[in-house]
Amino acid sequence: MTSAERPAAVLPPELIARFAAIVGERYAITDPNEIAPYLTEERNLYQGRSQLVLRPGSTAEVAAICRLATETRTPLVPQGGNTGLVGGQTPHHGEVVLSLRRLDKIRDVDVASNTMTCEAGVVLATAQARAAEVDRLFPLSLGAEGSCTIGGNLSTNAGGTTALAYGVARDLALGVEAVLADGRIVNGLSKLKKDNTGYDLRDLFIGAEGTLGIITAAVLKLFPKPRAVETAFVALGSPEAALKLLAIAQREAAGTLTSFELIADICIDFCVRHGPNIRAPLPSRPPWSVLMEISSQRDDARDTLEKILGDAMEQGVVDDAVFAASLDQRNAFWTLREVISPVQKYEGGSIKHDVSVPVASVPQFITEANAAVTQLIPGARPFPFGHLGDGNIHYNVSQPVGADKAAFLARWQDVHDTVHEIVAKFGGSISAEHGIGVMKRDELPHFKDATALAVMRTLKATLDPLNILNPGKVV
Ligand code: FAD
Repeated sequence: MTSAERPAAVLPPELIARFAAIVGERYAITDPNEIAPYLTEERNLYQGRSQLVLRPGSTAEVAAICRLATETRTPLVPQGGNTGLVGGQTPHHGEVVLSLRRLDKIRDVDVASNTMTCEAGVVLATAQARAAEVDRLFPLSLGAEGSCTIGGNLSTNAGGTTALAYGVARDLALGVEAVLADGRIVNGLSKLKKDNTGYDLRDLFIGAEGTLGIITAAVLKLFPKPRAVETAFVALGSPEAALKLLAIAQREAAGTLTSFELIADICIDFCVRHGPNIRAPLPSRPPWSVLMEISSQRDDARDTLEKILGDAMEQGVVDDAVFAASLDQRNAFWTLREVISPVQKYEGGSIKHDVSVPVASVPQFITEANAAVTQLIPGARPFPFGHLGDGNIHYNVSQPVGADKAAFLARWQDVHDTVHEIVAKFGGSISAEHGIGVMKRDELPHFKDATALAVMRTLKATLDPLNILNPGKVV
Protein backbone atom coordinates (compact mmCIF):
# COMPACT_ATOMS: atom_id res chain seq x y z
CA MET A 1 0.00 0.00 0.00
CA THR A 2 1.46 3.38 -0.93
CA SER A 3 0.54 6.98 -0.27
CA ALA A 4 -1.44 8.57 -3.07
CA GLU A 5 0.95 10.06 -5.58
CA ARG A 6 -0.39 13.60 -5.39
CA PRO A 7 2.54 16.04 -5.78
CA ALA A 8 3.67 17.47 -2.45
CA ALA A 9 3.39 21.21 -1.91
CA VAL A 10 6.81 22.83 -1.66
CA LEU A 11 7.39 24.96 1.44
CA PRO A 12 9.09 28.28 0.68
CA PRO A 13 12.35 28.79 2.63
CA GLU A 14 10.92 31.90 4.36
CA LEU A 15 8.05 29.82 5.75
CA ILE A 16 10.42 27.12 6.97
CA ALA A 17 12.43 29.88 8.68
CA ARG A 18 9.29 31.25 10.39
CA PHE A 19 8.38 27.80 11.74
CA ALA A 20 12.00 27.20 12.81
CA ALA A 21 12.00 30.49 14.71
CA ILE A 22 9.20 29.13 16.92
CA VAL A 23 10.96 25.95 18.05
CA GLY A 24 14.60 26.98 17.51
CA GLU A 25 16.80 25.85 14.59
CA ARG A 26 17.86 22.72 16.43
CA TYR A 27 14.31 21.43 16.63
CA ALA A 28 13.28 22.21 13.06
CA ILE A 29 14.56 19.24 11.05
CA THR A 30 15.11 19.75 7.33
CA ASP A 31 17.87 17.19 6.64
CA PRO A 32 16.23 14.36 4.61
CA ASN A 33 18.27 11.72 6.46
CA GLU A 34 17.03 12.96 9.83
CA ILE A 35 13.49 13.29 8.53
CA ALA A 36 13.44 9.73 7.14
CA PRO A 37 12.42 7.91 10.38
CA TYR A 38 9.32 10.12 10.65
CA LEU A 39 8.16 9.04 7.19
CA THR A 40 8.10 5.25 7.53
CA GLU A 41 6.15 3.15 10.00
CA GLU A 42 6.18 -0.20 11.75
CA ARG A 43 4.73 -2.35 8.98
CA ASN A 44 6.32 -0.53 6.04
CA LEU A 45 2.87 -0.11 4.51
CA TYR A 46 3.23 3.63 4.01
CA GLN A 47 6.03 5.89 2.88
CA GLY A 48 5.44 9.56 3.64
CA ARG A 49 6.98 12.76 2.32
CA SER A 50 7.89 15.92 4.19
CA GLN A 51 10.36 18.78 4.04
CA LEU A 52 10.05 19.74 7.67
CA VAL A 53 9.69 18.10 11.08
CA LEU A 54 8.98 20.44 13.99
CA ARG A 55 9.75 19.33 17.54
CA PRO A 56 8.14 21.87 19.89
CA GLY A 57 9.11 21.86 23.57
CA SER A 58 5.99 23.44 25.08
CA THR A 59 2.26 23.88 24.63
CA ALA A 60 2.90 27.55 23.81
CA GLU A 61 5.18 26.51 20.93
CA VAL A 62 2.54 24.07 19.63
CA ALA A 63 0.01 26.92 19.75
CA ALA A 64 2.35 29.25 17.84
CA ILE A 65 2.94 26.56 15.19
CA CYS A 66 -0.83 26.08 14.74
CA ARG A 67 -1.37 29.86 14.48
CA LEU A 68 1.26 30.14 11.75
CA ALA A 69 -0.06 27.02 10.00
CA THR A 70 -3.54 28.55 9.91
CA GLU A 71 -2.23 31.93 8.74
CA THR A 72 -0.28 30.29 5.90
CA ARG A 73 -2.66 27.36 5.29
CA THR A 74 0.10 24.85 5.96
CA PRO A 75 -1.17 21.36 6.81
CA LEU A 76 0.26 19.61 9.89
CA VAL A 77 0.48 15.92 10.75
CA PRO A 78 0.81 15.31 14.50
CA GLN A 79 3.06 12.42 15.46
CA GLY A 80 3.89 10.78 18.79
CA GLY A 81 5.81 7.51 18.94
CA ASN A 82 5.02 6.67 15.30
CA THR A 83 3.70 3.21 16.23
CA GLY A 84 0.23 3.72 14.74
CA LEU A 85 -0.97 0.95 12.44
CA VAL A 86 -3.36 2.77 10.09
CA GLY A 87 -1.13 5.43 8.50
CA GLY A 88 -2.58 8.28 10.60
CA GLN A 89 0.79 9.69 11.70
CA THR A 90 2.35 9.65 8.23
CA PRO A 91 2.60 12.84 6.09
CA HIS A 92 1.29 11.41 2.85
CA HIS A 93 1.31 14.68 0.88
CA GLY A 94 4.32 16.60 2.09
CA GLU A 95 2.66 18.02 5.24
CA VAL A 96 4.79 19.38 8.07
CA VAL A 97 5.29 16.75 10.77
CA LEU A 98 4.52 18.03 14.25
CA SER A 99 6.38 15.64 16.55
CA LEU A 100 5.17 15.87 20.14
CA ARG A 101 7.93 13.74 21.63
CA ARG A 102 9.74 16.62 23.34
CA LEU A 103 6.64 17.32 25.41
CA ASP A 104 7.79 14.61 27.80
CA LYS A 105 7.28 16.02 31.29
CA ILE A 106 5.17 14.42 33.95
CA ARG A 107 3.77 17.64 35.38
CA ASP A 108 2.10 16.30 38.48
CA VAL A 109 1.48 13.08 40.41
CA ASP A 110 -1.38 13.41 42.88
CA VAL A 111 -1.44 10.22 44.92
CA ALA A 112 -4.43 11.22 47.05
CA SER A 113 -6.54 12.02 43.98
CA ASN A 114 -5.10 9.03 42.08
CA THR A 115 -4.16 11.16 39.09
CA MET A 116 -1.04 11.86 37.05
CA THR A 117 -0.73 14.78 34.64
CA CYS A 118 1.46 13.85 31.67
CA GLU A 119 2.49 15.79 28.63
CA ALA A 120 1.63 14.26 25.27
CA GLY A 121 5.12 12.98 24.46
CA VAL A 122 5.56 10.93 27.63
CA VAL A 123 6.22 7.35 26.56
CA LEU A 124 3.59 4.95 27.88
CA ALA A 125 6.18 2.75 29.67
CA THR A 126 7.55 5.87 31.42
CA ALA A 127 4.05 6.75 32.65
CA GLN A 128 3.57 3.18 33.90
CA ALA A 129 6.94 3.27 35.71
CA ARG A 130 6.22 6.65 37.35
CA ALA A 131 2.88 5.34 38.63
CA ALA A 132 4.61 2.25 40.04
CA GLU A 133 7.09 4.46 41.93
CA VAL A 134 4.19 5.85 43.98
CA ASP A 135 2.65 2.40 44.44
CA ARG A 136 -0.02 2.99 41.83
CA LEU A 137 -0.92 1.39 38.52
CA PHE A 138 -1.44 3.11 35.19
CA PRO A 139 -3.02 0.09 33.52
CA LEU A 140 -2.88 0.84 29.79
CA SER A 141 -0.62 -1.83 28.32
CA LEU A 142 0.23 -2.66 24.71
CA GLY A 143 3.02 -4.20 22.69
CA ALA A 144 4.33 -0.80 21.60
CA GLU A 145 4.44 0.63 25.14
CA GLY A 146 8.21 1.19 24.98
CA SER A 147 7.78 3.80 22.25
CA CYS A 148 4.15 4.90 21.91
CA THR A 149 3.19 8.12 23.69
CA ILE A 150 0.31 9.24 25.89
CA GLY A 151 -0.77 11.74 23.21
CA GLY A 152 -0.83 8.98 20.59
CA ASN A 153 -2.62 6.60 22.95
CA LEU A 154 -5.37 9.11 23.60
CA SER A 155 -5.59 10.22 19.97
CA THR A 156 -6.12 6.61 18.87
CA ASN A 157 -8.12 5.68 22.00
CA ALA A 158 -5.77 2.70 22.39
CA GLY A 159 -7.04 -0.54 23.93
CA GLY A 160 -4.48 -3.22 24.72
CA THR A 161 -4.45 -6.19 27.03
CA THR A 162 -6.01 -4.74 30.20
CA ALA A 163 -9.06 -3.04 28.69
CA LEU A 164 -11.20 -5.89 30.03
CA ALA A 165 -10.78 -4.62 33.59
CA TYR A 166 -9.71 -0.98 33.27
CA GLY A 167 -11.21 0.16 29.97
CA VAL A 168 -9.60 1.78 26.92
CA ALA A 169 -7.53 5.00 26.86
CA ARG A 170 -10.72 7.10 26.87
CA ASP A 171 -11.70 5.55 30.21
CA LEU A 172 -8.29 6.34 31.67
CA ALA A 173 -8.23 10.11 31.09
CA LEU A 174 -10.00 12.65 33.29
CA GLY A 175 -8.92 15.75 31.41
CA VAL A 176 -7.14 16.86 28.28
CA GLU A 177 -5.24 19.99 27.23
CA ALA A 178 -5.43 20.54 23.47
CA VAL A 179 -4.40 23.13 20.92
CA LEU A 180 -6.93 24.00 18.21
CA ALA A 181 -6.05 24.54 14.56
CA ASP A 182 -6.14 28.32 15.04
CA GLY A 183 -3.73 28.11 17.99
CA ARG A 184 -6.20 28.58 20.84
CA ILE A 185 -5.56 26.32 23.83
CA VAL A 186 -8.40 24.37 25.44
CA ASN A 187 -7.32 23.92 29.04
CA GLY A 188 -9.27 20.88 30.12
CA LEU A 189 -6.76 19.50 32.62
CA SER A 190 -9.45 18.62 35.12
CA LYS A 191 -8.88 16.06 37.86
CA LEU A 192 -12.61 15.78 38.42
CA LYS A 193 -14.55 12.58 38.08
CA LYS A 194 -17.77 14.54 38.24
CA ASP A 195 -18.06 17.65 36.09
CA ASN A 196 -21.35 18.20 34.31
CA THR A 197 -20.74 21.66 32.93
CA GLY A 198 -21.74 21.07 29.35
CA TYR A 199 -20.34 19.17 26.41
CA ASP A 200 -17.43 16.84 27.09
CA LEU A 201 -14.69 18.31 24.91
CA ARG A 202 -12.15 15.82 26.26
CA ASP A 203 -13.98 13.03 24.48
CA LEU A 204 -13.90 14.99 21.24
CA PHE A 205 -10.12 15.01 21.12
CA ILE A 206 -9.73 11.42 22.34
CA GLY A 207 -9.92 9.05 19.39
CA ALA A 208 -9.87 11.92 16.86
CA GLU A 209 -6.45 10.86 15.52
CA GLY A 210 -5.20 14.44 15.50
CA THR A 211 -7.93 15.75 13.20
CA LEU A 212 -9.68 18.07 15.70
CA GLY A 213 -6.83 19.35 17.86
CA ILE A 214 -3.34 18.60 19.11
CA ILE A 215 -3.36 16.94 22.52
CA THR A 216 -0.53 18.47 24.54
CA ALA A 217 -1.22 17.04 28.01
CA ALA A 218 -3.71 14.89 29.91
CA VAL A 219 -4.75 14.02 33.43
CA LEU A 220 -4.63 10.24 33.72
CA LYS A 221 -6.34 8.01 36.24
CA LEU A 222 -4.24 5.88 38.57
CA PHE A 223 -5.34 2.69 40.33
CA PRO A 224 -4.11 0.74 43.35
CA LYS A 225 -1.14 -1.41 42.37
CA PRO A 226 -2.18 -5.07 42.50
CA ARG A 227 -0.51 -7.07 45.27
CA ALA A 228 -0.80 -10.38 43.46
CA VAL A 229 -0.82 -11.21 39.77
CA GLU A 230 -1.44 -14.76 38.58
CA THR A 231 -1.18 -15.86 34.98
CA ALA A 232 -2.12 -19.08 33.21
CA PHE A 233 -1.88 -20.48 29.71
CA VAL A 234 -4.91 -22.64 29.06
CA ALA A 235 -5.62 -25.30 26.40
CA LEU A 236 -9.07 -25.45 24.83
CA GLY A 237 -10.82 -27.09 21.92
CA SER A 238 -12.64 -24.11 20.43
CA PRO A 239 -13.53 -20.42 20.73
CA GLU A 240 -16.91 -21.59 22.13
CA ALA A 241 -15.05 -23.27 24.99
CA ALA A 242 -13.05 -20.07 25.51
CA LEU A 243 -16.32 -18.16 25.84
CA LYS A 244 -17.51 -20.62 28.50
CA LEU A 245 -14.20 -20.21 30.35
CA LEU A 246 -14.63 -16.43 30.19
CA ALA A 247 -18.06 -16.72 31.80
CA ILE A 248 -16.69 -18.90 34.61
CA ALA A 249 -13.74 -16.53 35.12
CA GLN A 250 -15.96 -13.44 35.24
CA ARG A 251 -18.27 -15.13 37.73
CA GLU A 252 -15.39 -16.07 40.04
CA ALA A 253 -12.98 -13.18 39.55
CA ALA A 254 -15.25 -10.29 38.52
CA GLY A 255 -13.16 -7.11 38.16
CA THR A 256 -9.89 -8.86 39.03
CA LEU A 257 -9.86 -10.69 35.68
CA THR A 258 -7.53 -8.28 33.90
CA SER A 259 -6.63 -10.13 30.68
CA PHE A 260 -8.22 -12.81 28.57
CA GLU A 261 -6.44 -13.35 25.26
CA LEU A 262 -7.58 -15.93 22.73
CA ILE A 263 -4.85 -17.47 20.55
CA ALA A 264 -5.24 -19.90 17.62
CA ASP A 265 -2.63 -22.66 17.39
CA ILE A 266 -1.25 -21.31 14.10
CA CYS A 267 -0.13 -18.22 16.04
CA ILE A 268 1.81 -20.33 18.53
CA ASP A 269 3.24 -22.37 15.68
CA PHE A 270 4.60 -19.23 13.95
CA CYS A 271 5.96 -17.88 17.27
CA VAL A 272 7.80 -21.10 18.06
CA ARG A 273 9.25 -21.29 14.56
CA HIS A 274 10.23 -17.67 14.13
CA GLY A 275 10.11 -15.88 17.49
CA PRO A 276 13.11 -15.09 19.70
CA ASN A 277 13.58 -18.17 21.97
CA ILE A 278 9.86 -18.85 22.17
CA ARG A 279 8.71 -22.21 23.50
CA ALA A 280 5.16 -23.53 23.37
CA PRO A 281 3.83 -22.99 26.92
CA LEU A 282 1.85 -26.25 27.04
CA PRO A 283 3.15 -29.79 26.50
CA SER A 284 0.29 -30.51 24.10
CA ARG A 285 -0.58 -28.36 21.08
CA PRO A 286 -4.28 -27.58 21.49
CA PRO A 287 -6.21 -25.95 18.64
CA TRP A 288 -6.88 -22.92 20.82
CA SER A 289 -5.28 -21.34 23.90
CA VAL A 290 -6.21 -18.59 26.30
CA LEU A 291 -3.69 -16.43 28.13
CA MET A 292 -5.50 -15.20 31.22
CA GLU A 293 -4.46 -13.06 34.14
CA ILE A 294 -5.91 -12.16 37.50
CA SER A 295 -4.66 -9.10 39.40
CA SER A 296 -5.82 -8.72 42.96
CA GLN A 297 -5.31 -6.56 46.03
CA ARG A 298 -5.60 -9.66 48.17
CA ASP A 299 -3.52 -12.84 48.41
CA ASP A 300 -6.24 -14.98 46.93
CA ALA A 301 -5.42 -14.54 43.23
CA ARG A 302 -3.88 -18.00 42.93
CA ASP A 303 -6.85 -19.61 44.71
CA THR A 304 -9.27 -17.81 42.42
CA LEU A 305 -7.40 -18.88 39.29
CA GLU A 306 -7.23 -22.49 40.51
CA LYS A 307 -10.95 -22.46 41.27
CA ILE A 308 -11.76 -21.09 37.79
CA LEU A 309 -9.64 -23.67 36.02
CA GLY A 310 -10.81 -26.48 38.34
CA ASP A 311 -14.46 -25.68 37.61
CA ALA A 312 -13.72 -25.36 33.88
CA MET A 313 -11.95 -28.73 33.78
CA GLU A 314 -14.78 -30.40 35.67
CA GLN A 315 -17.23 -29.05 33.10
CA GLY A 316 -15.04 -30.27 30.25
CA VAL A 317 -14.37 -26.72 29.06
CA VAL A 318 -10.60 -26.75 29.54
CA ASP A 319 -8.24 -29.54 28.52
CA ASP A 320 -5.03 -28.47 30.21
CA ALA A 321 -3.44 -25.43 31.84
CA VAL A 322 -0.08 -24.22 33.06
CA PHE A 323 0.41 -21.50 35.68
CA ALA A 324 3.27 -19.03 35.46
CA ALA A 325 5.50 -20.26 38.29
CA SER A 326 7.80 -17.23 38.24
CA LEU A 327 8.02 -13.71 36.90
CA ASP A 328 10.26 -15.02 34.12
CA GLN A 329 7.63 -17.51 33.06
CA ARG A 330 4.92 -14.85 33.15
CA ASN A 331 7.11 -12.62 30.99
CA ALA A 332 7.68 -15.55 28.59
CA PHE A 333 3.90 -16.00 28.21
CA TRP A 334 3.45 -12.30 27.46
CA THR A 335 6.43 -12.19 25.10
CA LEU A 336 4.78 -14.92 23.08
CA ARG A 337 1.58 -12.89 22.99
CA GLU A 338 3.41 -9.75 21.91
CA VAL A 339 5.36 -11.34 19.04
CA ILE A 340 2.33 -13.03 17.49
CA SER A 341 1.70 -10.24 15.02
CA PRO A 342 5.35 -9.42 14.13
CA VAL A 343 6.32 -13.07 13.43
CA GLN A 344 3.72 -13.32 10.70
CA LYS A 345 6.11 -11.59 8.31
CA TYR A 346 8.38 -14.67 8.27
CA GLU A 347 5.58 -16.61 6.57
CA GLY A 348 5.15 -14.13 3.71
CA GLY A 349 2.38 -11.62 3.24
CA SER A 350 -0.34 -11.08 5.81
CA ILE A 351 -3.57 -9.13 5.66
CA LYS A 352 -4.55 -7.80 9.08
CA HIS A 353 -7.84 -6.78 10.61
CA ASP A 354 -8.56 -5.10 13.93
CA VAL A 355 -12.24 -5.76 14.45
CA SER A 356 -14.72 -6.15 17.26
CA VAL A 357 -18.03 -7.93 17.54
CA PRO A 358 -20.24 -8.57 20.57
CA VAL A 359 -18.32 -10.98 22.83
CA ALA A 360 -20.96 -13.69 22.40
CA SER A 361 -20.58 -13.55 18.61
CA VAL A 362 -16.81 -14.09 18.49
CA PRO A 363 -16.92 -17.88 17.84
CA GLN A 364 -19.47 -17.56 15.04
CA PHE A 365 -17.61 -14.61 13.56
CA ILE A 366 -14.37 -16.64 13.42
CA THR A 367 -16.13 -19.64 11.85
CA GLU A 368 -17.77 -17.53 9.15
CA ALA A 369 -14.68 -15.42 8.45
CA ASN A 370 -12.49 -18.54 8.13
CA ALA A 371 -14.91 -20.08 5.64
CA ALA A 372 -15.24 -16.88 3.59
CA VAL A 373 -11.53 -16.08 3.46
CA THR A 374 -10.46 -19.59 2.46
CA GLN A 375 -13.15 -19.65 -0.19
CA LEU A 376 -11.90 -16.31 -1.52
CA ILE A 377 -8.25 -17.40 -1.50
CA PRO A 378 -7.85 -21.18 -1.31
CA GLY A 379 -4.96 -22.07 0.98
CA ALA A 380 -5.02 -18.72 2.80
CA ARG A 381 -4.21 -19.26 6.47
CA PRO A 382 -6.55 -17.51 8.96
CA PHE A 383 -4.55 -16.32 11.96
CA PRO A 384 -7.03 -15.09 14.60
CA PHE A 385 -5.99 -13.91 18.06
CA GLY A 386 -6.85 -11.11 20.42
CA HIS A 387 -8.77 -9.70 23.29
CA LEU A 388 -11.72 -12.10 23.52
CA GLY A 389 -12.95 -10.45 26.71
CA ASP A 390 -13.47 -7.23 24.72
CA GLY A 391 -14.84 -8.96 21.61
CA ASN A 392 -11.76 -7.56 19.81
CA ILE A 393 -10.14 -10.05 17.46
CA HIS A 394 -7.10 -9.35 15.33
CA TYR A 395 -8.37 -11.42 12.47
CA ASN A 396 -5.20 -11.72 10.42
CA VAL A 397 -4.71 -13.87 7.37
CA SER A 398 -1.37 -15.27 6.17
CA GLN A 399 -0.73 -16.06 2.53
CA PRO A 400 -0.95 -19.66 1.28
CA VAL A 401 2.32 -21.55 1.66
CA GLY A 402 4.54 -20.86 -1.35
CA ALA A 403 2.18 -18.28 -2.86
CA ASP A 404 3.39 -15.07 -4.45
CA LYS A 405 3.46 -12.43 -1.72
CA ALA A 406 2.68 -9.46 -3.96
CA ALA A 407 -0.23 -11.27 -5.60
CA PHE A 408 -1.62 -12.17 -2.18
CA LEU A 409 -1.28 -8.61 -0.85
CA ALA A 410 -2.97 -7.29 -3.99
CA ARG A 411 -6.13 -8.97 -2.63
CA TRP A 412 -5.96 -6.80 0.53
CA GLN A 413 -9.15 -4.88 -0.19
CA ASP A 414 -11.09 -8.00 -1.28
CA VAL A 415 -10.18 -9.73 1.97
CA HIS A 416 -10.98 -6.62 4.03
CA ASP A 417 -14.35 -6.24 2.31
CA THR A 418 -15.18 -9.89 2.94
CA VAL A 419 -14.22 -9.83 6.62
CA HIS A 420 -15.72 -6.42 7.32
CA GLU A 421 -19.08 -7.44 5.82
CA ILE A 422 -19.20 -10.33 8.30
CA VAL A 423 -18.22 -7.97 11.11
CA ALA A 424 -21.06 -5.64 10.11
CA LYS A 425 -23.51 -8.53 10.07
CA PHE A 426 -22.75 -9.13 13.74
CA GLY A 427 -23.11 -5.41 14.58
CA GLY A 428 -19.36 -5.05 15.03
CA SER A 429 -16.74 -2.40 14.29
CA ILE A 430 -14.15 -2.36 11.48
CA SER A 431 -11.70 -0.64 13.84
CA ALA A 432 -11.69 -1.87 17.42
CA GLU A 433 -8.57 -0.13 18.68
CA HIS A 434 -6.16 1.03 15.96
CA GLY A 435 -8.29 3.80 14.45
CA ILE A 436 -9.21 4.78 10.90
CA GLY A 437 -6.21 6.81 9.69
CA VAL A 438 -5.99 6.49 5.92
CA MET A 439 -6.23 2.72 5.87
CA LYS A 440 -9.96 2.55 6.57
CA ARG A 441 -11.03 6.10 5.67
CA ASP A 442 -12.67 5.14 2.40
CA GLU A 443 -14.45 2.18 3.99
CA LEU A 444 -15.87 4.22 6.87
CA PRO A 445 -18.86 5.66 4.94
CA HIS A 446 -19.95 2.14 4.10
CA PHE A 447 -19.98 0.95 7.71
CA LYS A 448 -20.67 4.05 9.83
CA ASP A 449 -24.13 5.42 10.43
CA ALA A 450 -24.61 8.18 7.83
CA THR A 451 -25.90 10.74 10.32
CA ALA A 452 -23.05 10.02 12.74
CA LEU A 453 -20.56 10.53 9.91
CA ALA A 454 -22.25 13.79 8.90
CA VAL A 455 -21.97 15.06 12.50
CA MET A 456 -18.29 14.07 12.52
CA ARG A 457 -17.73 16.08 9.33
CA THR A 458 -19.58 19.06 10.82
CA LEU A 459 -17.32 18.95 13.89
CA LYS A 460 -14.22 18.77 11.70
CA ALA A 461 -15.38 21.74 9.59
CA THR A 462 -16.21 23.76 12.71
CA LEU A 463 -12.99 23.16 14.61
CA ASP A 464 -10.65 23.04 11.62
CA PRO A 465 -12.34 24.94 8.76
CA LEU A 466 -9.12 25.21 6.73
CA ASN A 467 -8.35 21.49 7.11
CA ILE A 468 -4.95 22.13 8.69
CA LEU A 469 -4.89 19.23 11.15
CA ASN A 470 -4.09 15.80 9.73
CA PRO A 471 -5.95 16.36 6.46
CA GLY A 472 -7.23 13.29 4.65
CA LYS A 473 -7.37 11.17 7.78
CA VAL A 474 -10.50 9.61 9.35
CA VAL A 475 -13.19 11.68 7.57
P1 FAD B 1 1.42 7.80 16.50
O1 FAD B 1 1.59 6.51 15.79
O2 FAD B 1 2.56 8.74 16.43
O3 FAD B 1 0.10 8.50 16.05
C1 FAD B 1 -1.12 7.81 16.00
C2 FAD B 1 -2.25 8.79 15.62
O4 FAD B 1 -2.43 9.75 16.65
C3 FAD B 1 -1.97 9.59 14.37
O5 FAD B 1 -3.18 9.85 13.71
C4 FAD B 1 -1.38 10.88 14.88
O6 FAD B 1 -1.56 11.95 13.97
C5 FAD B 1 -2.14 11.07 16.16
N1 FAD B 1 -1.40 11.74 17.24
C6 FAD B 1 -0.26 11.33 17.86
N2 FAD B 1 0.04 12.14 18.87
C7 FAD B 1 -0.92 13.10 18.89
C8 FAD B 1 -1.17 14.24 19.73
N3 FAD B 1 -0.38 14.53 20.76
N4 FAD B 1 -2.26 15.00 19.46
C9 FAD B 1 -3.08 14.71 18.43
N5 FAD B 1 -2.90 13.65 17.62
C10 FAD B 1 -1.82 12.86 17.86
N6 FAD B 1 -2.85 -0.29 19.66
C11 FAD B 1 -3.80 -0.67 20.53
O7 FAD B 1 -4.79 0.05 20.69
N7 FAD B 1 -3.73 -1.85 21.22
C12 FAD B 1 -2.66 -2.68 21.11
O8 FAD B 1 -2.63 -3.73 21.73
C13 FAD B 1 -1.60 -2.28 20.22
N8 FAD B 1 -0.51 -3.04 20.09
C14 FAD B 1 0.49 -2.64 19.26
C15 FAD B 1 1.64 -3.42 19.17
C16 FAD B 1 2.68 -3.03 18.33
C17 FAD B 1 3.91 -3.88 18.24
C18 FAD B 1 2.56 -1.84 17.56
C19 FAD B 1 3.67 -1.38 16.65
C20 FAD B 1 1.44 -1.07 17.65
C21 FAD B 1 0.39 -1.44 18.50
N9 FAD B 1 -0.76 -0.67 18.63
C22 FAD B 1 -1.75 -1.05 19.49
C23 FAD B 1 -0.94 0.56 17.82
C24 FAD B 1 -0.25 1.83 18.42
O9 FAD B 1 0.78 1.49 19.29
C25 FAD B 1 -1.27 2.68 19.14
O10 FAD B 1 -2.19 3.19 18.18
C26 FAD B 1 -0.68 3.87 19.90
O11 FAD B 1 -1.69 4.43 20.71
C27 FAD B 1 -0.09 4.95 19.00
O12 FAD B 1 0.68 5.85 19.81
P2 FAD B 1 1.86 6.69 19.15
O13 FAD B 1 2.37 7.64 20.18
O14 FAD B 1 2.85 5.82 18.53
O15 FAD B 1 1.07 7.52 18.06
